[in-house]
Amino acid sequence: MSFESLGLHAEILRAVLDAGYENPTPVQARAIPVVMAGRDVLAGAQTGTGKTAAFTLPILHTLQPYANTSASPARHPVRALILTPTRELCDQVFESVTTYGKYLPLRATAVFGGVDMNPQIEALRRGSEIVVATPGRLLDHVQNKTINLSQVEMLVLDEADRMLDMGFILDIRRILGLLPARKQTLLFSATFAPEIKKLAEDFMHNPETIEVARRNATNESVTQQLHPAEHDHKRRVLSQLIRHHEMEQVIVFTRTKIGAERLARELKRDGFVCEAIHGDRTQQARLETLASFKEQKLRVLVATDVAARGLDINELPYVVNFELPTNPEDYVHRIGRTGRAGATGVAISLVASDEDKALGLIRKMTGKPLELTPAPGIELRERSEGRAPREGREVRERRDVREGREVREGREVREGREQRDPGERRSSRRDDIMQVETPLIEGRRATSSAALGGRVAGGFAPFAVRAREAVRELPALLLPPRYTVSK
Ligand code: AMP
Repeated sequence: MSFESLGLHAEILRAVLDAGYENPTPVQARAIPVVMAGRDVLAGAQTGTGKTAAFTLPILHTLQPYANTSASPARHPVRALILTPTRELCDQVFESVTTYGKYLPLRATAVFGGVDMNPQIEALRRGSEIVVATPGRLLDHVQNKTINLSQVEMLVLDEADRMLDMGFILDIRRILGLLPARKQTLLFSATFAPEIKKLAEDFMHNPETIEVARRNATNESVTQQLHPAEHDHKRRVLSQLIRHHEMEQVIVFTRTKIGAERLARELKRDGFVCEAIHGDRTQQARLETLASFKEQKLRVLVATDVAARGLDINELPYVVNFELPTNPEDYVHRIGRTGRAGATGVAISLVASDEDKALGLIRKMTGKPLELTPAPGIELRERSEGRAPREGREVRERRDVREGREVREGREVREGREQRDPGERRSSRRDDIMQVETPLIEGRRATSSAALGGRVAGGFAPFAVRAREAVRELPALLLPPRYTVSK
């Protein structure tokens, strides 16, 4: 199937072709015609499947007859509302809307917490056909009477399961109560917990169900390789794998923030251009690191699960799990950073003997045998160099133990203990939640004083170039502590 055959408006097609897409992804091929026909859609699709365009393109198509260049706010009421769980996703979806809508005189605004409300108020006052919002900040605008939702015709609940996980159910129900009863609702969710089904029953009209990936299934275009490696060998194995596979770029996931910092330091010492991102780094530092990685100035990005969701880096060929996550769903999210939208990718996991339980859970959830095979780089390198494996500190320490010599507690030993520190594990599990919750909470607390900034845009067409620059400048994942206002 081609994009042309979907019957999208020519100016939308032009933007899609500019984006370099050749064919619709499965969720796009299934959802776009149904949304264009005006039906409600309940779609089971994970991030990385192209779901954003699956709802953005038909929304733009549907709203296209309203497109106008009038300066009057009355000519630009809010007609489509897209709700997202996190500000990062909100910004990312907003980027997609501006990208695909760049040739249409429709307006879009991103509305999320943790940033100054005033630019958002200004943009809403000027009028905006499409509003992409996180629930808390949207309700702030409702309370301040700075948004009018009475003309909303299309509603999207993006990553609905995550919104529920984050405790937004009451906010969502409140928002749904504020919208006109007659509207088209699109609900996207990776999983369908009973609460989601109930929400769909209560608010949707005979929705068409579209499911493109089995629940919690891992992306078939990702080759999964698992190598045994004890904790104190992992760094050496990793360095050799990067060289052996000639990885141009790789994200390496660690369980803990301390582990991420340390690994990045060690990889730098091994000669790799590398940085770490995790919850203890400032928003600005995270943004800059991510931007460097996207611009391919970094070869290795070491990340905790804070980066596992929503991260969208085109054609990232490799992901490495330096340690297996304790929660098997995080495994799916981590390896979903590669093999996105039809590209192929390789996910490599280094598995220590004490990670058996985590591996068992991952096997159970993915339904795959996930056999352990020896890491190739080690053998090949040692053989090709024609010498016996170099005796590392670990080997020396084991021999020292056998020979009854006292073993100094080395870095690797300390590392092992820190990795198993239950407090750290708990906090790493909450990494991504903390990352997104805090700003929202702060945003609601500090709506009048926060001066971190947000991003809003008026009509797309005159700002296409600037929007593209903004994409380069802001990778749309983590927010800068400032704002840019297009118009
Ligand atoms: P999403 O699941 O919406 O986060 O999209 C994942 C990635 O797929 C994004 O980088 C999109 O730019 C990309 N993408 C979306 N649709 C297509 C397509 N039809 N062909 C190729 N890439 C796409």
